Amino acid sequence: MDNRVSLAACGSYEEAEVEAALRSVLDPIGGLDFVKPGMRVAVKLNLVSAMKPETAATVHPAVVCALTKLLRERGAEVVLGDSPGGLFNAAHLNRVYEVCGMRAAEAAGAELNADYSQIEAEFPEGAVARQFSYTAWLSKADAVIDLCKLKTHGMMGLTCAVKNFFGSIPGTQKPEYHYRYPKTADFSNVLVDLYEYTKPVLCLCDAVIGMEGNGPTQGSPRPIGCLLASKNGHALDLTAAGLIGLSPDEVPTLQAAIRRGLVPDSEAGLRFFGDPGAFRVPDFRTVPSQASVFFLALGDGPLGKAADRIGKRILTPFPKLDPASCVGCGKCAQICPAKAITMKDKHPHIARNRCIHCFCCQEFCPKGAMRVGRHLLMRVLGK
Ligand code: SF4
Ligand code: SF4
Repeated sequence: MDNRVSLAACGSYEEAEVEAALRSVLDPIGGLDFVKPGMRVAVKLNLVSAMKPETAATVHPAVVCALTKLLRERGAEVVLGDSPGGLFNAAHLNRVYEVCGMRAAEAAGAELNADYSQIEAEFPEGAVARQFSYTAWLSKADAVIDLCKLKTHGMMGLTCAVKNFFGSIPGTQKPEYHYRYPKTADFSNVLVDLYEYTKPVLCLCDAVIGMEGNGPTQGSPRPIGCLLASKNGHALDLTAAGLIGLSPDEVPTLQAAIRRGLVPDSEAGLRFFGDPGAFRVPDFRTVPSQASVFFLALGDGPLGKAADRIGKRILTPFPKLDPASCVGCGKCAQICPAKAITMKDKHPHIARNRCIHCFCCQEFCPKGAMRVGRHLLMRVLGK
């Protein structure tokens, strides 16, 4: 297991500063040594939606441009892409590239992925996902680099290196995965499987400005001030979680990776180049985690089952509407994989008994009107 994680200060998206930080974060772990002239390198970005760079919802173009430059210097062909929610086609992706500022990376010598085909992947080693549809552009490259963003996430606590690979599933099929694997423990193993299937040679994280609060799309930008790099995405995620004040048991993908022996169970097992302590943000606004909920063992008898049901209801965060921000567009009802939302009088109504807590409605609400809610008791306890 490679347990090395590198961190380098980067206080702005100014071109020269980003390039210098990128070189210094890569250097201690031999980051781009694998690149040979003529190699085709796919860079899996986090382009969750057509949102401007200043929202901090997507990887900043300055980081993408700097990486493109370094790869081109070594003679690589660079292809950039993602499969955000929605149709995986030219019309949708061209808009995403445009709004997210990726034309600048194209000008720097990268190709923006235009291959919208998929393959049927077989991964017998997977814990949960052993056969799945996979975006073909990633499988056609000689190597894959994971270039993610550090943000809060309603379902997973955090989105960073491993969660980024949900974007290897064609966009319209994503809700189906939520529905097929409604339990957080299973879904997090699916994400770990997708990461392990792809096995990126390098993971890089844009944590210059992360997203706090109602992430991964409607939170607030928050300076963290660094780039992170590792050849082990789980180790990078463990470090990133620590920067924003999350423990491993609040991040279900980390729990899954720890159980599978892919990462140590604490930062003490990692080897750092750079000081994580210099970049911690103690008052970073995280979202409530449901990680512990599915591992409660309150007994098997009728009383235990009733207590388990009540406990889950109290502990599990749920989607909560802010009516003042809602414009009644109905996108949440369209995206909900459990068909738990119906529109009445131009407002969404959620059937709590159908909800599988995937937070797709929160992620894709264009107005940030869907939030992550917590039971009163948990708020009183400050959880
Ligand atoms: S997606 Fe957001 S704005 Fe649109 S109806 Fe749902 S909650 Fe309201
Ligand atoms: S209501 Fe929201 S959180 Fe619940 S299943 Fe539907 S999309 Fe997921």
